[in-house]
Amino acid sequence: MRVAIGLVVCMLLAALPPAAAQYDPTQTPVWPGDPIDSHVHLTWAALTLDVNNWADEHPDIVDLTSAGQSELGKTLWVVRLSDWSIDTKANGSAKEIVYIDGGHHGNEYLGTALAYLTAKWYINAWSEGNEEAVAVLQNTELHILIMLNPDGNDIDTRWNINQVDLNRNYNHYWNTCPTTQPGSSAFSESETASNSDYMNTYVTDADLYVTMHTGVWIMLYPWGKWPEQPPDWELFWRIREDVQANVTDIPIQNANQGLYPNCGTSRDYGYGHMGFPTFTFETDDEQFVPGSFEALNERLEEEMNVMRYLINNVWYWRARLDVQSITMEDERLTLEVVNHGRASTANASLEHLNAAGEVVWASPMFTVNASNATNVAFDVNKDRFEMDGTWNLNYQKRVIDAAVWVNETVDSNVSMVVVEDEGGFLVGYGLFNPLTVIVGMLGVSLLIRREDEHV
Ligand SMILES: [Zn+2]
Repeated sequence: MRVAIGLVVCMLLAALPPAAAQYDPTQTPVWPGDPIDSHVHLTWAALTLDVNNWADEHPDIVDLTSAGQSELGKTLWVVRLSDWSIDTKANGSAKEIVYIDGGHHGNEYLGTALAYLTAKWYINAWSEGNEEAVAVLQNTELHILIMLNPDGNDIDTRWNINQVDLNRNYNHYWNTCPTTQPGSSAFSESETASNSDYMNTYVTDADLYVTMHTGVWIMLYPWGKWPEQPPDWELFWRIREDVQANVTDIPIQNANQGLYPNCGTSRDYGYGHMGFPTFTFETDDEQFVPGSFEALNERLEEEMNVMRYLINNVWYWRARLDVQSITMEDERLTLEVVNHGRASTANASLEHLNAAGEVVWASPMFTVNASNATNVAFDVNKDRFEMDGTWNLNYQKRVIDAAVWVNETVDSNVSMVVVEDEGGFLVGYGLFNPLTVIVGMLGVSLLIRREDEHV
């Protein structure tokens, strides 16, 4: 089922920018490889020329770097795409981060091609002023390691040069499933060690990681190790619903179910260790045959539509708490909080800091479900709170233990407190000093420093 670009609209987007419908991906260059045997082969040398040309021709958006080297010393290129004229979004908040890799398996050319095309699509579309691409690159950093296994790629084999299956070599329950050639230890291979170093150094805040392969046309979310659904099943299921309703009917499922246990994969590492929402994206295995060379864009258009959906909406792939109000009545504090994100968070807490910045009170942990509003109430001792104190919200971006913690200051947007002072307050007593008479309900309307929803 091919879907017109204009229809690639998830429920979260009010509308695609008008220019998106005019962008014609078939105008972009074809996959720069040559037909070899039964498929198209992009050599590492050809890739190297291309990515360097991209960097030379588009320095405004292409920042070419390396994650390290293969076992034979080939550079593991990472194409970093963003509007580098601005460090942050227009409102000063950090850009969203997406991490993509391709080519773990050296004979899965279409998977590598999808990583290549994802970079190329945004470069071409940006150059043509496509509004979707401009919006993405102004608000997002895309980090794309196109070919992780150049040694295996160049000799047309699944393995790396040491005959190791790189996608069984990660340090997440390494070698705990029946498997083939996982290596002598986790991260024994320079390719996987480099990939993990890159993740842990440059993209720890990523809210999406897609690792691209070829085999059966499917998208797999964690776990590969276990048949059970992952802690953030809700997020994965919502993405599946949206993709299948609006983009394509590609199967999306737990990587273990109906397949076989797979351990030490980059997907389970990306989710279980890094806390990223992670998908293995497998293209089908109908690779090119000589004489029927197709434009890469046409061949992978449906897959690209899924990638664009995931990237357009990366803002939602985490919990995003937004404090509506903090109300104190007698010795009871009530927090009203909304979660704009599509991931739940299980370990949220509200903190009160005094003027010196010391935490003088912290709530017990509470849960806020995805796309939901929650009221939580706590019994408190009012004496602890200060008029010139501040509030912080601590929570994890997702349910998985490895999810990144965020600590956000709750900004006082409507900062006034309805209070009638009967003494104490004006001379510096705590706001909730017993001497202070609070008329009716003391309501503070506060908002977290929110990031604009960029699309
Ligand atoms: Zn593979």
